[in-house]
Amino acid sequence: MKILIITGPPYSGKGTQCEILEKTLGYKHISTGEIIRDEKEKGSKLGITMKDYEEKGMLVPDKIMKVLLNQIIAKHEAAKGIILDGYPRTIPQVDTLLEILEEKQKSVHQVINIAVSKEELLDRAKARAKSSDRVDDKDASIHLKRIALFEENSKPAIQYLKEKMEVVDIDGMGSINNIASRIHQQLI
Ligand code: AMP
Repeated sequence: MKILIITGPPYSGKGTQCEILEKTLGYKHISTGEIIRDEKEKGSKLGITMKDYEEKGMLVPDKIMKVLLNQIIAKHEAAKGIILDGYPRTIPQVDTLLEILEEKQKSVHQVINIAVSKEELLDRAKARAKSSDRVDDKDASIHLKRIALFEENSKPAIQYLKEKMEVVDIDGMGSINNIASRIHQQLI
């Protein structure tokens, strides 16, 4: 199972790029945010536990995310590859991922980090709010909070990842197609 990690701030268009990559690479796109929303819909115990965090734009605690990640890896072990979207988001999540993979004698194939300016993120968040039915997309204060949480937790986590492996930085400004082709050129 090849593991491709796509990182970047909220509203950077990670999900859209992962959908494109899913088609071109034939890997399974796994968005932890999507899984959380599905679990919430199903009303599972895990979903009920994560609901408040997701709807308020807060990070689900690392301990709970560890349970989720274990389930994800176990479920897709036979897949050709997975594209991990939305994980890791904190330094402890990087360690958890690497520990689980080591136990299973697997490794990360590539990490791609999409960079977008804060101003553009807020514009994209506003545009997304118009068509989205996500609770967390509707509130402008949540947009700001999520970007702040990215700066506080996820940026250091990406930096930490960079100390452990190569991370390819991609300019995430411009059209969806332009960004997709920049990513495509870097795939190994
Ligand atoms: P996303 O769909 O990636 O925008 O994620 C939506 C929400 O799910 C986030 O705001 C968090 O509340 C939660 N979430 C998703 N992935 C993680 C993660 N790796 N760690 C903590 N919370 C997460």
